[in-house]
Amino acid sequence: MMASASASNPVPPQVLLAHHLQQLKLPTFLREYEKLAAEAAREGLDHVRFLLRLAELELIDRERRMVERRIRAARFPAVKSFDTFDFTAIPSLNKPLVLELARCEYIVARENIIALGNSGTGKTHACLALGLAACQRGFTVSFTTAVGLVHQLMEARDEKRLLKLQAQLAAVKLLIIDELGYVPLSQTGAELLFETFSQRHERGSTIVTSNLPFEEWTSVFQSQRLTGALLDRLTHHVHILELNGESYRLKQSKARRRRDGRSADPETGKTISVS
Ligand code: ADP
Ligand code: MG
Repeated sequence: MMASASASNPVPPQVLLAHHLQQLKLPTFLREYEKLAAEAAREGLDHVRFLLRLAELELIDRERRMVERRIRAARFPAVKSFDTFDFTAIPSLNKPLVLELARCEYIVARENIIALGNSGTGKTHACLALGLAACQRGFTVSFTTAVGLVHQLMEARDEKRLLKLQAQLAAVKLLIIDELGYVPLSQTGAELLFETFSQRHERGSTIVTSNLPFEEWTSVFQSQRLTGALLDRLTHHVHILELNGESYRLKQSKARRRRDGRSADPETGKTISVS
């Protein structure tokens, strides 16, 4: 450890300052102080205003770094926002509700969101955008698919670290579980997923997306009792987003073909992958 500078200290003050600012974790101070000092001298800014500017820059940068950290921690498969979301493409979706949800008050109130709709209608895009908004507003977020989460839970159980994972899952402010319903779950898988919902109930917000209407969720959990108890918890405080319509990708590729001047061959139309 370096001691504080004294008149006889041979170490130049810039070196000491750099060291102290690193210790204090003030990287923006360190990066900007020389430039700002020169500016302050030119503009005749006093010391307090000079420090204030530096402190403001550090705060802005720190906030940006924290948002980036939350986005990395969320493990989004892609970063998407509502800026690139075309609401006119999906008239069944309640746009005012979505924009309200993007303000994240439901997270403070620990309410849930369920997005339902057929494949390709923007469910994942919408929950990625809600997740991004949450990161930007200071909430911790974790993104996973239902199958991925069940895998994680089973692996943690086999490795005797289930409690730790469950505690992590319960602590995150917003848990996004995408694609419930594409694959039926094993009994253990269903029970572990149910426990996750239970442990988060009224503690944090959960977003679930599914291609299946509620009536068909029993086919995923393979138990009427479990499905009932789960829906009971999940829908206690819930906002439901309905995304029903034509697949966005399918619509895009049809439009592309029209632009390319090729006739829309119904045979080809059928073979387009809309996964
Ligand atoms: P889902 O999860 O419902 O199957 P996705 O969110 O994966 O659908 O959407 C499929 C693709 O189409 C993605 O690349 C997504 O960004 C895009 N997409 C879907 N709906 C919209 C929309 N309304 N506006 C812009 N892009 C959209
Ligand atoms: Mg999806």
